[in-house]
Amino acid sequence: MPRTAAPPALVSLLTRVADSDRRRTSASVILRSVLEHGPVARSTIARLTGLSPASVTDHCARLARVGLLREADAPRRSNGVGRPHVPVDLDDSRFVVGGVHVAASCTTVSLLDLRGRVVARRRSGHRGLEPSKVLARAADGLAALLDETPGRRPLALGVAAGGWVDRDSGTVVEHPLLGWRDVPVREAMSARTGLAVHVDGHARALVNAERLFGRARGSRSVLHLFVGNLVDAAFATHDEVHHGPRSQSGSIAHLPLPGGTRPCDCGRIGCLQAELGERTLGRRARDAGVTDGVDPMDVVAAADAGNPVAARLLRERARMVGRAAGLLLDVLNPERVVVTEVGVLFREDCLAALRDEVGAQRAAAVSPSSFPDAVAAVAGGAVALDVLYRDPLTLSADAAPLPT
Ligand SMILES: [Zn+2]
Repeated sequence: MPRTAAPPALVSLLTRVADSDRRRTSASVILRSVLEHGPVARSTIARLTGLSPASVTDHCARLARVGLLREADAPRRSNGVGRPHVPVDLDDSRFVVGGVHVAASCTTVSLLDLRGRVVARRRSGHRGLEPSKVLARAADGLAALLDETPGRRPLALGVAAGGWVDRDSGTVVEHPLLGWRDVPVREAMSARTGLAVHVDGHARALVNAERLFGRARGSRSVLHLFVGNLVDAAFATHDEVHHGPRSQSGSIAHLPLPGGTRPCDCGRIGCLQAELGERTLGRRARDAGVTDGVDPMDVVAAADAGNPVAARLLRERARMVGRAAGLLLDVLNPERVVVTEVGVLFREDCLAALRDEVGAQRAAAVSPSSFPDAVAAVAGGAVALDVLYRDPLTLSADAAPLPT
């Protein structure tokens, strides 16, 4: 069959598309390399990334022009990147991303810098509020944080929540504890803040935070198991978090826990969420006379103060979390497993119990969250930072122009 030449217009379009893809990928790879190794010489970036020195120089200049990079010893707020042997580093003085994390009973708003560090945060209760009121308050809270942090400009806003969150449509499809259904979060928050808004599930948001700023950096595959009011999981391989159709992956709430006995709202017995959820821990703590059963951190505080019953309840829960982690390890075989659960985060005996349950061979792969004091504050912002590190030039170009 004779080859037919593509029409010139199509060739030109394809070249442009390929060029823009290449630019996006190179800028992303370079910014990630600076995040991980900075301050770092451009020659080292070229060696680490396999890009040509000329391409690295060109992209570093672009990234400096939009305010994401600077020369390491240059005065802050200098836009120039000229001298080839001077190392470059992230310019973490100009930009922040906003974060909103919607939990079952409270909302956390935060500002994170380019290194994923919490610059400012605040938390407020939202029990009984309509979704639109919760989001309106979050937007007001963000505006207040930005007022308190002059000189930092927001690049984007990330919103994270538990339950079923569809990243593509920016919607909380279903959050059983909040009673939210098909809430168009991206639309609402864009309208209220004027920012580019990205929305994702909190387990996926935190797997991205671990990959970019935490213990999973450099791991080829990572599983994040989130055990709070809700129980869910997220899995990433080679820097890609698996979403699946309509972002339904990771909903493990109703997987059966081996040996589970508690009835679940879904009508079955022994679902992970029924066994592990914070409501169950609260009920057990109340029944044992340890706390009033409202805040799981009270159980940790009681255990830390020497209450043996509180410590036992937390260790038992950590063991069950270990059993759940073992199930997922069997299926996914990740290089690293990160667990977010209060006992495991704050008590060595709970981490030991979890690792014991997972088994000696795989125990070293399991670690607690890298953000024990800031899980909620990091989750929202991580959704936006993931987008930034994938496509730094587009996101920063869409932000307001740099002050001169
Ligand atoms: Zn169930």
